Amino acid sequence: MDTERTATEVFGLLADEIRLDILRTVARAQQGNRTTGVAKLSFSEIYDRVNVDSTSKFSYHLGELTGTFLRKHEDGYGFTHAGERLVRFILAENYQQPSDIGTIETDGICLHCGESGLRAAIQDQYFLLQCPACERPNFSYTVTPAQVQAHDGGALIDAVTWALVGDILKMREGVCPDCAGRIHTEVIPVSDQPLADTDPASFATSSECQQCLRFMSLPLTHAAAYHPESVAFHWEHGVDIMGTGMWEFHRYLHDGQWTAEQVGTDPQEYRIEFRREDATLNVHLDENATVTRTERVLRRDQGDRRTG
Ligand SMILES: [Zn+2]
Ligand SMILES: [Zn+2]
Repeated sequence: MDTERTATEVFGLLADEIRLDILRTVARAQQGNRTTGVAKLSFSEIYDRVNVDSTSKFSYHLGELTGTFLRKHEDGYGFTHAGERLVRFILAENYQQPSDIGTIETDGICLHCGESGLRAAIQDQYFLLQCPACERPNFSYTVTPAQVQAHDGGALIDAVTWALVGDILKMREGVCPDCAGRIHTEVIPVSDQPLADTDPASFATSSECQQCLRFMSLPLTHAAAYHPESVAFHWEHGVDIMGTGMWEFHRYLHDGQWTAEQVGTDPQEYRIEFRREDATLNVHLDENATVTRTERVLRRDQGDRRTG
């Protein structure tokens, strides 16, 4: 069993260009050497590709990485989890600042004043959507420098949308999108939040990873919208929940098509109503924003007819 390493020791190992070169080399060689499973490289296969002037120097640096960032198998070297994460971070150059994207116009209406058309920009290294009329923030999300480098204009908006959807789906199942640790989610009243006076969302989710402290908060309506029953319901009514920027759902709060209310206190229970044309989907959630049941209601002249 390996002895525990401190973060200082682990990061100290990386402050050397030859070692970073070894990690990059292993990643590139693996890419060109894929058969089945994880490719393993021999000592000489790595040595031949790294710019180092002696075998003994190479051997020393490879030894320093082994155990923490590389694992020595019978048939060669491969990455540990830490090596895998670190080398992708280094290759993508996610330690750089995201480049300036200027402003990108996007659909969606302002959560606060109802104005149509929002503007995306990178601010404090976050993807931020702001209302051009009232200048209030409508949505912000983490972006990586590589994301900004690889996509521009509408493609960057799509890249943020899909990154967000992936994160939401994991969070909903209690899995941290960053470290795969355990996420704890609670429903909180929006009056606990600074935007309460003008925010039409009445409840929000507050999710936090117990291990890495990743945090995320969504209007409860928006969080419930990603439940499979809601995805299907909206799809049947011409709305693609998964492929739409979450900020575009603000319009449904403004026009009252989406509402949230607390319907029980002991235990706490919340009901979301999603209305489309003549149909309504009710989604019930508990205090941890877990969906407990769903119910479709068809509105007819003679009164409600419940299905499913
Ligand atoms: Zn506004
Ligand atoms: Zn985490």
